[in-house]
Amino acid sequence: MPYFKGVSERITRILNRAGAKTFYSRSQKLRGDILSQPKDPLSKKHTACVYSIPCSCGQQYIGQTKRPLRVRVVELKRATEQGKAEGSALAEHAHCNNHTPLWADVTSIVKVKHLGMRLIREALEIRVNEKSTINRMDGKDVSHM
Ligand SMILES: [Zn+2]
Repeated sequence: MPYFKGVSERITRILNRAGAKTFYSRSQKLRGDILSQPKDPLSKKHTACVYSIPCSCGQQYIGQTKRPLRVRVVELKRATEQGKAEGSALAEHAHCNNHTPLWADVTSIVKVKHLGMRLIREALEIRVNEKSTINRMDGKDVSHM
């Protein structure tokens, strides 16, 4: 995938040159550049992505996985149904507030093979969508603006 390859190199260059803070200020542009919507995010072949799971309350949970997204979704669904709040912010949110994640509306935001890049993208997506996400924010990966 030469398109993503180029993007990864650009991100690396930006990170090396300017650090994560500057990188974040450019995230809106990067987001527009590399946003992709796969046709079927829950197909077996759809692996290594940053994903979004909407909740019945209108908020969303953003996460990343290297495995097939459908496997991760099954896991999260089980954790949520069993009320295993420790394992996931989504399970905790749904359980404590009596909300229902909209499993049928799971979307893959972007496929990123490289773990480091995937974690950066996840952190950026959470930061950019800060007001609408139910993720636990620790702010470790991305500087505060
Ligand atoms: Zn909710």
